[in-house]
This record gives sequence, C-alpha cells and structure tokens, in this order.
Amino acid sequence: MATKTSPKAKKAAVKTKKAAAPAQNTSKKLMAMEEKYGAHNYHPLPVVLQKGKGIYVWDVEGKKYFDFLSSYSAVNQGHCHPKIVKALKDQANKLCLTSRAFYSEALCEYEKFMHQYFGYDRVLPMNTGAEGVETALKLARRWGVVKKGIPNDKVKIICCGGNFHGRTVTVITMSDDPSSFADYGPLTPGFIRIPYNDTKALEKVLKKQANEICAFIAEPIQGEAGVFVPDEGYLKKCYDLCKANNVLFIADEVQTGIARTGKMLCSQHDGIRPDIVILGKALGGGVLPVSACLADDEIMLNIKPGEHGSTFGGFPLAAKVAMAALEVVKEEKLVQNAEKMGKLFRAEIKKIKSPFIVEVRGRGLLNAIVTKPIGQKTAWDICLKMRDNGLLAKPTHDDIIRFAPPLCINEAEIKKAVAIIKKTFEEMA
Ligand SMILES: *Cc1c(COP(=O)(O)O)cnc(C)c1O
Repeated sequence: MATKTSPKAKKAAVKTKKAAAPAQNTSKKLMAMEEKYGAHNYHPLPVVLQKGKGIYVWDVEGKKYFDFLSSYSAVNQGHCHPKIVKALKDQANKLCLTSRAFYSEALCEYEKFMHQYFGYDRVLPMNTGAEGVETALKLARRWGVVKKGIPNDKVKIICCGGNFHGRTVTVITMSDDPSSFADYGPLTPGFIRIPYNDTKALEKVLKKQANEICAFIAEPIQGEAGVFVPDEGYLKKCYDLCKANNVLFIADEVQTGIARTGKMLCSQHDGIRPDIVILGKALGGGVLPVSACLADDEIMLNIKPGEHGSTFGGFPLAAKVAMAALEVVKEEKLVQNAEKMGKLFRAEIKKIKSPFIVEVRGRGLLNAIVTKPIGQKTAWDICLKMRDNGLLAKPTHDDIIRFAPPLCINEAEIKKAVAIIKKTFEEMA
C-alpha cells in the first residue's frame, strides 16, 4: 500500500475540489448513498443534517432549521451542549470502557448521583431505551416469581394498546401495530394487552387474574402513538389498582422523562412514584445512548450477579455524560422552562386557523397537531413545507405531527417557530 499520495492523485483531488458540484447536489448524493447502501428500515424526511447547536440544526448545504423533533426527545438539553460535550471529551481522554468485570470510578459516582437525583434505592444501567424496557420486564418477572410467588411459567405483564416501548422481539410483542411486530416469527408469551386510558379494563384483568400478574407497564403519555395524553388522574388510578393487587407499576419514561413534559418525570403530574422507572433518550444528553431502570431494593436485589448485564451498560463515558446531562437540566431549569414554553406554544398554535388542523394537544414541550388530509395533501406534505420554511418535524401515524423542540428554547424562539408553522399552514391551504 502506498503511504504517500501520488502527484497524479493530488492533482485529481485539487481538480475535483475546484469543480465541486453545485451545493444542491450534495444532499441528493448523500441520500442516494443511504438509499443504495443502508438498510431500508427508515423513511427519513429528505434533509441531510451536518451540524447542530442548541435548538438549531444545519443541513449539508448550510441551511439552518429549528429542530422540533429533538431526536424523539433525546436532545432535551440542546445539540452539542458544551458542558455535556466537555464531560464526554474529558472522560474520553481518561477512560472509556471497563466492562462490568471491574469497578469504575465514574460508574460508582453515577450510581450514587442517580440515587440522590431521583430518590430510588438503586439504578441498573443499560444503553438503549429498548434495553431499559427489557430490563424492567426482567426485574418485574423476577420479582413476580421470587417475591410474589407466581409460578415461573405463569407470570404475566399487562401492557397498553397503542404503546411504543422499542424494537426487540420481546418488546414488539407488546405492540398492537403490525408494522412493529408482523412477520418477525413467534413472539414472547406472557403479555396481556388492554386499551390505554381505560382504568375499567385494568380493573377487570386484575380482578380476573391478579395472582398471575407481576406488573403493569405504561407510558405516562404515549409519544409514538401521537402524543396521546390520558385523562387527568389516569396514572394515579392505575397505580392505586396495582397497589391494591400487589402488582408493580412500571413507567416507561424514556420519552416523557427528564423534563420533557414540564416535570422531571411525567408520572409526577399524577403525584405517583412508580415501582420501576425506565429512562433513556435525554439521559444521554443527546450524545450517547444511555438508559437505566430505577427501583428500590425489594425489586432490584432479586437479580443476582451474573443474571443480567450489558458490556457497555454504565460504561465510564456514559456515566459522566449522564451526570452532566442531568446537571444541565437542573442548572438551566429545563423543567420550569418546558412547562412555561409548552403553555405558550399550545396557546399560540391554537390561534392558527387551518382546515388541516383537527386538534392541538400535549404537555410541557411534548406536543402534537392532529391533522386531516385535504385532497392529496397530508401531514407529510406539511412537514416538507415546514422544512422549506426552516423547521423540522415529522409525522407519526400519517396524520399527527409531533412538536418537541429542545427544552432550552426561549420565548422569542417559540414565537419565531410558531410563525413558521402558521405560514406553512397558510401556504398549504
Ligand atoms: C424511544 C422509546 C423507546 C426505545 O428507545 P430506543 O433507545 O430507541 O431503544 C422505549 N420507550 C419509549 C416510550 C420510547 O419513546
């Protein structure tokens, strides 16, 4: 292999640089690359991003956008937050990975930090949200068998219609969306699905077979379902029913947690303390996949050494990043800001008059506009036009557009973003 660039190659490089294709071709070429070489498991909005800062992202042609998706709420603290990136860089230069075969200084510190921050006895660190959910299911089943005394082959978990908990085989078993579970072969037994936002249904199942049920798992607000906000007091009622039947309440706060809905955890709106909390997404501060289960000794200590784990779970880099990410939430008062800016956003959006708009809903800065198609024009076309106007959002379930900017957004920026959304709906009509 030649180690030096030949003069000929150098010349060619200079030439291509000079004859650089018009900027517009760059994103086209990149999208064609993904189309040709990437698995086709996503259908992205056609915009190719290169750079991000705070609430903004830039495409490869240099156009700037409001990011109103925030990577499905993984970027609550804003893109490339200097404190979080510094924590990442400092630790990257020191020690990245140890596995759990040894203790690491960073993980020990993180575990105590998480206890103090969220008030649960213990944390079990994982990487992706789906792994956090898997871990919660294992914790619940183990508790059911060991503590509640359910026979191992009988233990069951109740989940909700319309849920999204991730993409592993066991997790998609809970889904009622065929695009999540169809044609993936046999699924995992042991789940009972009931309608979301229906305490009567929960009551009925518990009455019938609470003795075989270890847990009930729900999202405090269903994000992927289209920011579906349950009735006031729904979670509280479910929690009380679980308690009355010796069933664990698992809150999947992967999307709703960490200040997104105007509370640190969305469950707090209902004044409940779930038995197991699953965190992910923004726990990684928008830079690393970091997830976790929080629970008390009674639940957490039933899994013994060697019975569950992950090579990267709680790795030093993740531990430092997560602490920085959570410090930023407090230092920048993102809980309060999400609550305040969310109210402003919904109030402003509700003023927009458009035949496309059916409903505006949400909590804190997790919001959505439910649209209806007019002629051939759908939510996808609205999102394309918003992109042209400088704001990125994406439809979920064809007709619902989620609006979830980083939580560091301010009043002037909300107003600017709303002006773009308003203009877009006017242009659609
Ligand atoms: C995104 C999400 C998950 C899955 O997280 P991944 O990191 O994509 O595996 C689980 N639950 C909820 C509520 C989510 O929004």
